Amino acid sequence: MPSLKIQRNFLLKNISSIKIGGRAKYFVEINSKKDLFEILKWVKQKNLPILIIGNASNILFSDGFFPGVVIRIKNSKNRKIIKKAKSVVVSSGMLISDFLNYCLKNQWRGYEWLAGIPGTIGGAVFGNAGAYGQEIGNYVVSVETIDISTKKVKKYSNRECHFAYRESIFKAKNEILWNVELKTIKGKKEQIEKEIKNYFQERIEKKNFLYPSLGCVFKNILVEELKNFEEIKKFNPPVRNGKISAGWLIEQCGLKGKKIGGAMIASFHANFIVNISNASSQDVKKLIALIKEKVSQKFNIQLKEEIIVFDY
Ligand SMILES: Cc1cc2nc3c(=O)[nH]c(=O)nc-3n(C[C@H](O)[C@H](O)[C@H](O)COP(=O)(O)OP(=O)(O)OC[C@H]3O[C@@H](n4cnc5c(N)ncnc54)[C@H](O)[C@@H]3O)c2cc1C
Repeated sequence: MPSLKIQRNFLLKNISSIKIGGRAKYFVEINSKKDLFEILKWVKQKNLPILIIGNASNILFSDGFFPGVVIRIKNSKNRKIIKKAKSVVVSSGMLISDFLNYCLKNQWRGYEWLAGIPGTIGGAVFGNAGAYGQEIGNYVVSVETIDISTKKVKKYSNRECHFAYRESIFKAKNEILWNVELKTIKGKKEQIEKEIKNYFQERIEKKNFLYPSLGCVFKNILVEELKNFEEIKKFNPPVRNGKISAGWLIEQCGLKGKKIGGAMIASFHANFIVNISNASSQDVKKLIALIKEKVSQKFNIQLKEEIIVFDY
């Protein structure tokens, strides 16, 4: 057994932003590369499955028992942010809210729109998080990863990350994002502070934090990828940044407020599924299936999950 603090029979619900999840055989938080290599060696010896997480704000755990190790990347704890001339290297485990505080202190503008996204920088880069027409991929200079099987350190340039709408190459890799280099652009402190507050306030007004959730469940629909856009046009869909919102499609199916067990399609935002009362993963999955079925029937559009559904 490694010297690290490994928790047994850990209840994943306790760290999930939607407050759903059964138990994992082991759970460990990683602060340093040394700890990471130690745990990877142990996992290999014991031949255990692993799951890497950041702040678990975009992943739906199952209700069942995960017979492996959940590794939470918390590598920003004792590490300094590394400033370069036009960029900064941050640990993947840094919370977006902490990064925004650094931005404010150092007067770096451009990241204000991230305010209120409750994940880590690593999780954001993994899924190319975005909001208000912005995407984190546009700000990434490079990413350093550690290959889970070979333990080799790799470096990806922005182009090599293959960022696309809520996609990156890392979804197809067996690697841990360790450091992320992000562009820095000087701005005015008062302006940055005002914008962070405004974006955060907007999320409060949109009731983002009213109930436990994973944010938007489905990806919006890229109009350029729609084969039947002419047909859809008769419904007068609002198109923003080249996309039809999944929330609008769901709302048109009359599903707002629909409940299954303790989960509900939010009445204030049709693309949010919220945990209103001890919901299970099954409740959420049933709502996901229902939404897909209804949207497909009405619009002949196949919605795809933005969240990561982790089945085991
Ligand atoms: C209220 C609310 C609002 C939200 N608003 C938005 C929004 O506007 N835009 C948006 O894009 N998202 C939004 N989200 C979703 C989520 O917060 C973001 O996608 C966030 O960036 C995920 O980061 P995380 O650390 O929580 O990732 P996790 O949920 O922990 O993990 C997500 C995926 O990334 C992988 N991963 C995480 N860290 C690493 C790492 N270091 N190395 C390798 N793989 C890793 C995990 O394996 C998993 O597959 C919202 C969520 C909530 C609850």
